[in-house]
Amino acid sequence: MSKNPFQPFTEEHQLLRVSAREFINKEIVPYVAQWERDKHCAVEVFRKMGEQGFLGVTFPEAYGGSNLDLWAMVVLVEEVAHANIGGLAMSLFAHTYLPLPLINAFGTEEQKQKYLIPALKGEKIGALAITEPNAGSDVGGIKTTAKKEGNHYVINGSKMFITNGSIADFVVTVTRTGAGYDMSLLIVDTDNEGFKAVPIKEKLGMHSSDTGQLFFEDCKVPASALLGQQGMGFYYIMNNLQEERLVAAISGAASAEWALNKAMAYAKERSAFGRPIGKFQVIRHKMAKMAIIVEACRSMAYRAVHEFLAEGSGAVKIISMAKAYISEEAVNVINDALQIHGGWGYMESYGVARAWRDARLMTVGAGTTEIMHEIISKLVVDDVQYQRQYVEARGV
Ligand SMILES: Cc1cc2nc3c(=O)[nH]c(=O)nc-3n(C[C@H](O)[C@H](O)[C@H](O)COP(=O)(O)OP(=O)(O)OC[C@H]3O[C@@H](n4cnc5c(N)ncnc54)[C@H](O)[C@@H]3O)c2cc1C
Repeated sequence: MSKNPFQPFTEEHQLLRVSAREFINKEIVPYVAQWERDKHCAVEVFRKMGEQGFLGVTFPEAYGGSNLDLWAMVVLVEEVAHANIGGLAMSLFAHTYLPLPLINAFGTEEQKQKYLIPALKGEKIGALAITEPNAGSDVGGIKTTAKKEGNHYVINGSKMFITNGSIADFVVTVTRTGAGYDMSLLIVDTDNEGFKAVPIKEKLGMHSSDTGQLFFEDCKVPASALLGQQGMGFYYIMNNLQEERLVAAISGAASAEWALNKAMAYAKERSAFGRPIGKFQVIRHKMAKMAIIVEACRSMAYRAVHEFLAEGSGAVKIISMAKAYISEEAVNVINDALQIHGGWGYMESYGVARAWRDARLMTVGAGTTEIMHEIISKLVVDDVQYQRQYVEARGV
């Protein structure tokens, strides 16, 4: 790795970037507008990306991955974000970085053969179902139950807003197996009797992603569907959420950068009152502020990656900060980019309207900003040790 923490990419990463960009320009960019209009989640892209090895960059070679470090994931997330198709990006990464790390970490050999290998090839699509109609932020409030009956679990309940929910081949489902935080993860094949998924098409943005509501009615799965240990599901997903939030932060920073570049290009080509709008000081300063925020977002996202590499999910503080800050600021930068495009920004043709719609999810999905603030306040406001370090570091 390069010594500059803000340029952490090796030659191998750069080669990956070039091949990912070529693939995206050929297989995704020409179809973005059509998929968005049709509200089509391009399942065919999963298989094509799988064939190229793009789904498994950070997974072990034994299961079809390339065993690269997390910076390879950063490269892919940034490149997909620059294609400005938030919906498909969300579907791809909700497949790769929600259920699959859980199966990789806690799955039996049989589960890895059955799910991880075909999923990294893009032949099977996965989803992670935590949220329910009445419990999102409050994971402890979920009501979907799994009762052990002999060699089976019987699942009853429903899940809400699940990315890839109605196109998935399998769903890692968070179920209640006891009181309090006694929860367990079960891998449910979606052709299982008692399972039903209904697509949710009417949403603000992310039109090229699939979102589903899931129903479990006496859905009987074999005991071998249990992922990891019974009763440990809550802790597994809390751990895994760090990687999900990291992906969200990197993606947000890259989307903000995309919007800034769009705005700068437009400000050069659009004239008003006899000069390019980019010559008006108010527009120049707006873009200068956007550029500062984009740099701050990328720096924070990269710092979070460094800390995650060093400490794993112990990097919860910086990851929560990055998720909160970047998602709020990316929405602001994209909003400013739309403003700079004037009326054309409100139209579909420049792509800024799509970016704006898609970005709005950032402060809600993968843990809301308020929940990030709650986590950060527990770690910072309540932590005297942290405050002392901060004061000492500043020499005051
Ligand atoms: C398009 C889309 C895709 C999604 N994909 C998935 C997926 O793949 N898998 C999955 O499991 N879920 C998914 N979700 C669900 C998402 O994670 C939740 O919507 C999110 O966590 C918020 O939960 P909620 O909607 O129940 O809102 P609530 O938890 O009801 O929150 C409502 C409001 O109250 C605030 N609030 C709640 N608790 C507190 C608190 N303690 N302090 C201060 N404020 C608080 C929230 O910040 C928010 O502003 C998806 C959602 C959407 C919209």
